Amino acid sequence: MTHGESTGDHNSLDRQPYEYVIIGGGVHGTCVANYLLDEGGYDHGELCLVDPHERLLASFATKARQCGMQTLRSTFVHHIDTEPFSLDSFAEGAHREHELVPTEDYPNRPTLDLFLDHARYVIDRRDIDACHRQSTVTGVTRSRTRGLLRVDTSRGSLDARRVVLAVGLGGQPTVPSWAASLSDDARLAHVWDDDFDPAAAATFDGRTFVVGGGITAAQLACHLSKRTDVTLLSRRGLEVELTEADPQWINWRHIEQEIHSLPPGSAARYDRIRAARHDATIPPYVAHRLADARDCGDLDVRCGEIDHAHAADGRLQLRFDDGTTATDVQVVLATGHDPAPEHPLVGTLAESLSLERGANGFPVLNDRTLAWRRTDGADSALYVSGALAEMSVGPFARNVVGGRRAAERLLEPHDQVNSEATASLSKGQS
Ligand SMILES: Cc1cc2nc3c(=O)[nH]c(=O)nc-3n(C[C@H](O)[C@H](O)[C@H](O)COP(=O)(O)OP(=O)(O)OC[C@H]3O[C@@H](n4cnc5c(N)ncnc54)[C@H](O)[C@@H]3O)c2cc1C
Repeated sequence: MTHGESTGDHNSLDRQPYEYVIIGGGVHGTCVANYLLDEGGYDHGELCLVDPHERLLASFATKARQCGMQTLRSTFVHHIDTEPFSLDSFAEGAHREHELVPTEDYPNRPTLDLFLDHARYVIDRRDIDACHRQSTVTGVTRSRTRGLLRVDTSRGSLDARRVVLAVGLGGQPTVPSWAASLSDDARLAHVWDDDFDPAAAATFDGRTFVVGGGITAAQLACHLSKRTDVTLLSRRGLEVELTEADPQWINWRHIEQEIHSLPPGSAARYDRIRAARHDATIPPYVAHRLADARDCGDLDVRCGEIDHAHAADGRLQLRFDDGTTATDVQVVLATGHDPAPEHPLVGTLAESLSLERGANGFPVLNDRTLAWRRTDGADSALYVSGALAEMSVGPFARNVVGGRRAAERLLEPHDQVNSEATASLSKGQS
């Protein structure tokens, strides 16, 4: 038996608990682990990063490849390391400066390969893999040992002083109602299906409809159009925006002024964040890629919606809202995810730990520490990063930079001793 672990219903007083268990080894969980190791002064035995994938960041890397993404939308200073120019130095050291792509009116952006190779370099340098436990968290409850949380995983339980929830966008891929009743053998896929393979989709003989109006749909349409006939079907005209929100939302003081001034968990906060996010938009360089593919005759862009779909003998037929039809086609949905609060763990944890949920089911957090508030008003020892922290971290919460903001909050000296976490949050500052 090692640090903080328990496989049975033992009293775990005789085992040392983890200082932090991080649920999710994606961009955010790995970034938080790196900060805790580097700036927090924790050692590997004190942290556990639980994720079902074989490799950290696998979820992001797979999604990026599934939609044919070539470059990040964010800048070279947004990565999982603690030092802002780390990726820049890495590119220079590896003679890969050409992978920092110049962008009009914006700092350079890394290629996907550069971003991922740099992340791997950070993981190897800090040996973050040593903290990775390949399993899935099924629940978190109060441990029998006072002040500790018990994290149940598919490979036994872990005791921790604090838990960080970093499970990403959360919900299931969104499927429109006309697609929900199609049989499993219909030529219909969602770009975020675990088994979606763009290379296989590109071998289809007929026309492929990519449904969606955001960056994922546009990138995928361009990618597939190199090898097959593609129509990008968007409900409305495509909207162009360079970034997911105005860059001022990266600034914590701006978030304090604009978001924290509104009641925690309120609909007013939710509405302000939704209004600030440029959801379902494409950046100019993707718009140019689309226009080039269109000019070459590789791609159509169509405004409209599918009303009805029918599959028979493996052939898919579509009827559009303007009454026209298409036969023997394939459809790839790029219609996003269900909202983050629909991740199954959110409801489970809220119930087992009596945690407060606000507008649209989002966790209500302490804005300063990102501790999820209990229904009795006290802070729990469960902290939140990523899309689920949007109500406190603002419109960039889900983005790479949101992981850094969350890590900084965790490491900030806390003047009050938390009701569940009895130790100071940063060893380096204790
Ligand atoms: C294609 C794509 C491109 C993007 N490009 C950019 C960009 O250029 N710039 C930018 O800033 N942002 C970008 N984003 C947004 C954001 O940075 C990514 O979504 C990022 O992956 C979010 O990190 P995360 O850790 O919150 O989620 P993820 O990276 O998805 O990681 C969440 C992890 O939690 C794990 N998990 C879930 N449930 C459990 C459980 N019960 N137990 C254990 N583990 C669990 C999952 O397996 C997953 O590995 C992009 C997103 C996508 C999808």
